[in-house]
Amino acid sequence: MGIATVNPATGETCKTFSALTDAELEKKLALAQQAFLDYRQTSFAQRATWLKQTADIVEKDAQKFGKIITTEMGKPIKQAIAEVKKCALVCRYYADNAESFLSPTYTETDASQSFVAYHPLGAILAVMPWNFPFWQVFRFAAPALMAGNVGLLKHASNVPQCAIALEEIFTQGGFPPGAFQTLLVGADKVAQIVADDRVKAATLTGSEPAGASLASIAGKHIKKTVLELGGTDPFIVLESADLDAAVATAVTARVQNNGQSCIAAKRFIVVEAIADRFQNALVEKYRQLSMGDPMDEANDIGPLATPSILKEVDELVQACVSQGAEVLIGGQALSDRPGNYYPPTILANIPPGTPADTEEFFGPVALLFRVKDIDEAIILANSTSLGLGASAWTTDREECDRLIRDLEAGAVFINGMVKSDPRLPFGGIKRSGYGRELSVEGIREFVNLKTVWIK
Ligand code: NAP
Repeated sequence: MGIATVNPATGETCKTFSALTDAELEKKLALAQQAFLDYRQTSFAQRATWLKQTADIVEKDAQKFGKIITTEMGKPIKQAIAEVKKCALVCRYYADNAESFLSPTYTETDASQSFVAYHPLGAILAVMPWNFPFWQVFRFAAPALMAGNVGLLKHASNVPQCAIALEEIFTQGGFPPGAFQTLLVGADKVAQIVADDRVKAATLTGSEPAGASLASIAGKHIKKTVLELGGTDPFIVLESADLDAAVATAVTARVQNNGQSCIAAKRFIVVEAIADRFQNALVEKYRQLSMGDPMDEANDIGPLATPSILKEVDELVQACVSQGAEVLIGGQALSDRPGNYYPPTILANIPPGTPADTEEFFGPVALLFRVKDIDEAIILANSTSLGLGASAWTTDREECDRLIRDLEAGAVFINGMVKSDPRLPFGGIKRSGYGRELSVEGIREFVNLKTVWIK
């Protein structure tokens, strides 16, 4: 499949796009380089004005952009609109804080004055996924643009209308030509772009193979990268937890975005003492979910984004079942309708050695595990190669401290679901990637941290 909008709810190809030719790509890279020379000289105040205007646009037209998102990747329309509105938050956050985050930090040394300055690098390539097609781009672009860098977006091939709208939004916000450009290219062009001297660094949000491929090319050319990759986040429920709150959050944390979120809770690890109650309540809540047309506000779950994701999720579920896992609800792809619909599914009594131990289930499939106590819970939670987020539920202070200390993840949320917030750093450890987005840490990823010493 080339670059195209294929409605996941119907399978209909709505629009196809041609990839940039080499000559067109060259023009865009040259413009980025040229634009950077002037753009880096603009003040924080000027950039903040443009970014706040951008925030106003996404807020005002959230409905319009939400519809594009839902048409291209199938998330329920209410969630699509909420995603667009969240982009305004990250714009305003960096518009208000970038100058202080990047103001020089002074240190006493043998110099008369010594400090660290934070200067922009140039054109930064962002290779982005389809699952949060606006939010992922904004959380890269807002800090990058405030730092004085210029942005190049290679978006996922199934969200081209989002990609085009994004460039238009920044242009309408007032950013100068070349400050933010969309490159309509396939994944096969990424290596060439990363290798180009005019591109100074790259960030990728997506799968492990894509991240490894980009990072190896960037490494060859000695360029900085940030990688935000997959997750198979644990959701641990201990005996003292508020069970009603845990169950309600578990459902949202698993099925939000049709189950296609890197920080979705995927493995539910529950202590024996409360496991029956948790399981029964979870199944009951799953039963109440309505799946159908994502444009209909009444539906909680829409189709998966592509037929290949549907196939992959179903294969993972069938592999678990054939090795002995029990299906509590769902468990079969729906064949009674067009579109990539996979029903909300819960698997329990999953024996060791199935894909549930190692794979990321990118769909509304909850994997239920029972453990004796907190020790077993932590061992199981840490038993994968991924380490993005973790959610844990307890009202015991000592257990809480232990979970924070021992869970191998880039973020631990206690008594809440893992989420991204402009004010907090976001990123993973282990094979979930490296580097951080958002907060002060995020804006300092793509700057020249310049040491200055004056006699
Ligand atoms: P994907 O296939 O890796 O695609 C992501 C982006 O990478 C797309 O723009 C894709 O372009 C490009 N790409 C694919 N192969 C590439 C390669 N070899 N070299 C360079 N670029 C390449 O990921 P996906 O399956 O669409 O997205 C889901 C994954 O993203 C999940 O694993 C999810 O957990 C992860 N994710 C992580 C985060 C986070 O913040 N950690 C957030 C959201 C999603 P094409 O579309 O043209 O192939």
